[in-house]
Amino acid sequence: MKIRFWGTRGSIAAPGKDTVVYGGNTCCLQILLDCGEMVVIDAGSGIRPLGDHLMAKGKNVDIHLLMTHVHWDHVQGFPFFDPVFKPTTRIIVDGAPRCIKGLRAIFDSGIGDGFFPIRFEDLGADIRHLDRLPYGPLVIQNTTITTVPLHHPQGGFGFRFEEDGKSFVFITDNELTRKVWRGKCIDDFVPFCQDADILVHDAQFLPEEIEAHRGWGHSDHGTALELALKAGVKHLVLFHYEPARTDADVALIEKKCRTLALKQGSNIKIEGAREGSELIL
Ligand SMILES: [Zn+2]
Ligand SMILES: [Zn+2]
Repeated sequence: MKIRFWGTRGSIAAPGKDTVVYGGNTCCLQILLDCGEMVVIDAGSGIRPLGDHLMAKGKNVDIHLLMTHVHWDHVQGFPFFDPVFKPTTRIIVDGAPRCIKGLRAIFDSGIGDGFFPIRFEDLGADIRHLDRLPYGPLVIQNTTITTVPLHHPQGGFGFRFEEDGKSFVFITDNELTRKVWRGKCIDDFVPFCQDADILVHDAQFLPEEIEAHRGWGHSDHGTALELALKAGVKHLVLFHYEPARTDADVALIEKKCRTLALKQGSNIKIEGAREGSELIL
C-alpha cells in the first residue's frame, strides 16, 4: 500500500511561502493498494492537484472516494477535480452516512442554489454512492476497510485499512479527551488503532490551546501521541494543521512530540504529514 498526501491542512487552505514544506491544501489522501485499486480519502483542495496528476497519466480514472465527513475543508476541492467532467471516469463514493448529500449540495440543483455553477447531474463522470461502510467493512480485493465514528460535530468516520498483514489508520477531525461526561475518550479509540503500522491523526491544536477549543472536534499532538502509545502504534503522523501554523511551527510540534515520546521511554516514529510525501507499507 502506498499512501500519498495531497492535502494536510485543516479548516481552510493556507498557501504561501510559510507552508511550502508541510503544505497548504486541505485534506486529501491517495492510497494505492497493492492490487492496483486506488482509494482517495476526502475531497479537500488537495484533490485538485491529484486530479491534474491523474489526468496527466492519460488513463481512465477509476477510484473509490471515501469521505470522512462533509465539512467544507473536506469537500471544497470536489468541483475542481478535473476527472469529474470526463465520461470515462468512475467514482464510487462511500464513507460517512449521507456523504453523497454533502457532495451534491456543493452544486447548483437547477434552482440557483449550491456553491458552484454546474449541476451535479451534468458532471460527466459515473458517480455512484455505494453506502456500504455505514453498515460494515468494505472489501476491495485483499484489503478490508473498517470505520470508527469520530468525536466531531456532525460526526464522521475514521478508517482502518488492512492489507496482507499491514495496517494503516486514518483519523482526522477527532477530539481526543482524557475524560468526558459524554461522548468518547482516548481509550475508546485504542482498539481501533491497536498495533497499527501507521496512524495518521488530527493534531490541529497545541496542548496549551486545546482547553479553549473544547467541543470544536479536534485534538492536540499530546493526546494523539497518548492514543498512539496506548495502542502500540509503530508510526504516528500528525495531520490537519491549524491554518495559521507555519512550517517552522509544525517542525517545532514534531520536535516537541518526539521529546514527549522519549520522556515516556518510547521510540515511536513521529512526523508531521507533508503534502506530496509518500508512505509505503
Ligand atoms: Zn477538517
Ligand atoms: Zn470537520
